[in-house]
Amino acid sequence: MPISTQLFERASSVIPGGVNSPVRAFMSVGGTPRFIASANGYTLTDADGNDYVDLVCSWGPMILGHAHPAVVDAVQRAATTGLSFGAPTEAEIELAELIVERVAPVDRVRLVNSGTEATMSAVRLARGYTGRTKIIKFSGCYHGHVDALLADAGSGIATLGLPTSPGVTGAQAADTIVLPYNDIDAVTAAFAANPGEIACVITEAAAGNMGAVAPLPGFNEALRTLTAAHGALLIMDEVMTGFRVSRAGWFGREGVAGDLYTFGKVMSGGLPAAAFGGRADIMNHLAPLGPVYQAGTLSGNPVAVAAGLATLRAADDAVYAALDRNAQRLGGLFTEALTTVGVEHQVQFAGNMVSVFFAEAPVTDYATAKASQTWRFPAFFHALLEGGVYAPPSAYEAWFVSAALDEDAFDRIAAALPAAAHAAAAATPEGSRA
Ligand SMILES: *Cc1c(COP(=O)(O)O)cnc(C)c1O
Repeated sequence: MPISTQLFERASSVIPGGVNSPVRAFMSVGGTPRFIASANGYTLTDADGNDYVDLVCSWGPMILGHAHPAVVDAVQRAATTGLSFGAPTEAEIELAELIVERVAPVDRVRLVNSGTEATMSAVRLARGYTGRTKIIKFSGCYHGHVDALLADAGSGIATLGLPTSPGVTGAQAADTIVLPYNDIDAVTAAFAANPGEIACVITEAAAGNMGAVAPLPGFNEALRTLTAAHGALLIMDEVMTGFRVSRAGWFGREGVAGDLYTFGKVMSGGLPAAAFGGRADIMNHLAPLGPVYQAGTLSGNPVAVAAGLATLRAADDAVYAALDRNAQRLGGLFTEALTTVGVEHQVQFAGNMVSVFFAEAPVTDYATAKASQTWRFPAFFHALLEGGVYAPPSAYEAWFVSAALDEDAFDRIAAALPAAAHAAAAATPEGSRA
């Protein structure tokens, strides 16, 4: 029996589902998750010694590739001078300064420990600042597992086909208005129906948690105009896009300014840290300056901050050019392989995040994502895995490239794709996977 299978059985007797985050369990693609022993550059190595070209990149953070020498060195140096102090450090200032310098609408930053914490805190701040309770979110957008934000969320909620989650109270759900992504008329109508009650609109700056679904031209700008006109705040969730799709994230590509921003993933280079930030007059409502409470024992952890600083410092224009180039190249290989076998598909980009939808027309929202032939995905996924390519184990996730992908990596992807395309073509809705 493969070591990964043995480990999964052992894990399942002490960890619910054998995993610490649901999509890792391979539930929607079937089979056994690979337990990873190590990673370097673009390569993941599992417990059985199999190598894979990594197109998940820890769900986004590893833009430089795994175990990048500058990041490893920074982490090792930080660890030797103390793991946590519960008191401020100079490195936290440097990381905050770097974020403020890169993302123009951000004047003040507070560090937290996960993207979930960042969005939870940003929504609380928006409510505290405006004195309003209702919030607007979009179907298929995932903002972490915050109670009020789980309704019709993407990522694992989409992968497992859940509407929301038991344990979320009626009150928490009732204050959340869920609207279709890319539908500005729906947003206009919601503001008209709830005058003076909406604290904020929270949106993924470009959606990546129902697959890569970029905002249609003018959508984010219309959100900016509507929120401003109604005295509500616009929260741009850039946990996935931030410092990945450009040095200033999606803001750097589109230029539409939110009032508040959330960051994570790339920002902490693979260690647990995240941030929220925005306009000084809003952020100064946070304790200790203002009444909106927010805190964290490990917030600004020196080792996580060191990883984030080293990652952002290494992420120069050449890295962003490589990410864009690699994403386009990967998309081109998808198109070539799937066109050859005659499977209807859409290769979609949100910056350098990529997705393959088995659909006739472009996917623009959660309804069209769900209407796609997601039953073709498990066969596609497993053929790639067998060919040494590690893809996201869900039809509703973006694929993430790193700057470490080289000719050898693309040769391996190109070699694995024809069999995967054939498997996708041969798949049936009944999902018979041999
Ligand atoms: C990953 C993600 C989150 C949640 O971050 P965690 O660190 O997993 O809590 C929030 N928003 C978006 C857009 C994400 O992609």
